[in-house]
Amino acid sequence: MSAISPDPQPVIDGRGGTILGPRNVPIELENPDVLISPTTDAGTVPNLKWPFALSHNRVLSGGWARETTTRELAISTEIAGVNMRLTPGGIRELHWHKEAEWAYVIAGSCRISILDEEGRLFIDDVSVGDLWYFPAGLPHSIQALADGVEFLLVFDSGDFSENETFLITDWFNHTPREVLAKNFGVAESAFDNLPTDIGHTRYMFAGEVPPALADDAPGPPATQPPQSFTWHMHAQEPTKTPGGQMRVTDSRNFTVSERIAAALIEIEPGGVRELHWHPNADEWQYYLKGQGRMTVFASGGKSRTFDYQAGDVGAVPFAMGHYIENTGDETLVFLEMFRSDHFADVSLAQWMGVLPPELVKAHLNLDDDVIAGLPRTKPGMVA
Ligand code: MN
Ligand code: MN
Repeated sequence: MSAISPDPQPVIDGRGGTILGPRNVPIELENPDVLISPTTDAGTVPNLKWPFALSHNRVLSGGWARETTTRELAISTEIAGVNMRLTPGGIRELHWHKEAEWAYVIAGSCRISILDEEGRLFIDDVSVGDLWYFPAGLPHSIQALADGVEFLLVFDSGDFSENETFLITDWFNHTPREVLAKNFGVAESAFDNLPTDIGHTRYMFAGEVPPALADDAPGPPATQPPQSFTWHMHAQEPTKTPGGQMRVTDSRNFTVSERIAAALIEIEPGGVRELHWHPNADEWQYYLKGQGRMTVFASGGKSRTFDYQAGDVGAVPFAMGHYIENTGDETLVFLEMFRSDHFADVSLAQWMGVLPPELVKAHLNLDDDVIAGLPRTKPGMVA
């Protein structure tokens, strides 16, 4: 990549002209392939990028939360994401929702719990690189430990909103007091001090750091469900290739994760996640570190290139071809997420490599030595 000018202008190879009107230089600097698109880009392709930095942030006593849904990134109908921070002891209010929830811990640590339909309570502590998965409809809790926590949440519907979950305080405050008294077998006065925070809910609030897990376990007769709702993704042995490495987590190893599949991808500087596509679902990306660019091939002569950096969300509609190139000088790290029980991709190079050579040659006029050198296995990340 050429050095980026502090005053980028859409002028190149005798084309274009300087910007005379109002402009936003920081955004133009972050998006050089939007300011001057590659000449291979063509046609109308929907927006496939959203920075969490542009998402509304809900700032409360226990931390903050910002979401990227179809309201922010209209093309992403299958998946929505939430970036959430809880300060030490901070509590995400007891709740449940219609969507399945998958999470990746970005920093710090927290304690999660989930109740299954058999009345069994699963409780565990998670830290950087760990996942949790909550099936749709099951109630759960999240509380930050002494170091606080930040995590990414992924939901199996683009229309999800963190502001539309079923909150325990909301239900209490919208049930007649005499019914609450009957339900719990106590006097109505027991509910005189229900919280009446904004909207009669708490959503997220400051709390005390809980004791060690052994001292915070559910009391008898609560039992642990047979399956785990957490997973140590960073403990997985990565698949290494010359340009980087990847870890795939889906229902084949993290068995409860029946609605979300994930891949954690690392690409070394200058490397490329090879030209590929996914035969089962849209792709939803979250960039954790570094910077890169992606061109999405939309068929019908259409393609569009986007630049991404840590904190951005990227999207690839179902079956569209794409690559991701590390354009920075540090390792590019991102998550590929799919609304599926399994991760699946198709490699362009492998497809060409296993076809009869004459058939490939008839299409692309490639030399015999190029065709002979095509891989029979997926290259993955290319140096
Ligand atoms: Mn939730
Ligand atoms: Mn992909």
